[in-house]
Amino acid sequence: MDQIVSFSAPRTQAKPPRTIVVLGATGSIGRSTAEILCGAPGAFTVAAVAGGRDALALAAMAKRLGASFAALDDPKGYAALKEALAGTGIEAAAGPEAVIEAALRPSDLVMGAIAGTAGVRPTFAALEAGRTIALANKECLVCAGPAFMRQAIRSGTRLLPVDSEHNAIFQALGDSDPATIEMMTLTASGGPFRTWTREQIAAATPEQALAHPNWAMGPKVTVDSAGLMNKGLEVIEAHYLFGIEPARLDVLVHAQSIVHGLVAFTDGSVTAGLAAPDMKVPIAHCLGYPERMKTAARRLDLASVGQLTFERPDFERFPALRVALDALNTGRGLPTVMNAANEIAVEAFLRKLISFHDIARIVEEACEAALADGTAREPDSIEDALALNHLVRERTRSSFGTLDGASLLTN
Ligand code: MG
Repeated sequence: MDQIVSFSAPRTQAKPPRTIVVLGATGSIGRSTAEILCGAPGAFTVAAVAGGRDALALAAMAKRLGASFAALDDPKGYAALKEALAGTGIEAAAGPEAVIEAALRPSDLVMGAIAGTAGVRPTFAALEAGRTIALANKECLVCAGPAFMRQAIRSGTRLLPVDSEHNAIFQALGDSDPATIEMMTLTASGGPFRTWTREQIAAATPEQALAHPNWAMGPKVTVDSAGLMNKGLEVIEAHYLFGIEPARLDVLVHAQSIVHGLVAFTDGSVTAGLAAPDMKVPIAHCLGYPERMKTAARRLDLASVGQLTFERPDFERFPALRVALDALNTGRGLPTVMNAANEIAVEAFLRKLISFHDIARIVEEACEAALADGTAREPDSIEDALALNHLVRERTRSSFGTLDGASLLTN
């Protein structure tokens, strides 16, 4: 009889290290990735690291991880990077092409953790080259989902979701038959404004929006989380990543951030992914996949959590979620439009040019305008998606011209 489960299968001898490329090495996910890599000496070799503008932080990360190659997106940082790496034997390069070169260095896994649309081209290059990708960049799917997923299928590439909700759903899915999936649910912590009134949220300051109760993340995603826009972006990602229709995707507000994602099946069974709210858990899952690593990530102690609560999202208080779900349902390139307008609106909010609720209003107006004048149509390629993204960003930015002369275009 076949053995179904064995808890005592003999361990094979030490395996050769896995070769990793870390794109976005100096950001929040990149730093957590480095902690996991450093906590598993001998298990990984780092072929390349890439960062945005901070040459010294990238050099420090390259040295810490023993990387062979360090690529900085900003060409102006080349001299500082080269000087900081002098004598280490680590190759230095700068400019967007250097980041793509980093993505293409031979590896077993590419951690795609560059924030924003800057991450689309390098991650796509790795995808075209057939690399396994741990995907932490949202824009690959939200801005360019159809083209990105078509290429993933063409390349036969495995996409491992790093985001906690998608990673939980990926784990909860196991090897189930897609036809048996009735519903996928992503949870949202509700952010710092979960219990606030609509009026209080409308008057929220950037400082208040950046005070997330459960997760430590970069400023863009933290502001997105405060308005539940982040959950809308994640539902769009789940639609493309798992190939599931929008009507089968659901959002639940779950303040404790313990249950990250659930899958309901046609027989009434529900499986869920649980973990302490620590990004190192899904990162380690991706780095070790299909095996499991041993890490020092936070452990879940349900008895000390005590209660898990769930509630439906309130679209009145969190209109950004409705705007994002409407964009997904309408399709025709609106996820790309919505994402681009949101990036500019969030930046305007952080610069105190607009109120918190103006973010959702500006995004909705951008979607309406793009539908009305025909600029909204599903992008066929990455280049189409980035062109539409650029057009909408410019348009949205120009609408702030009368408010302030400062440039809002930072990436
Ligand atoms: Mg998330």
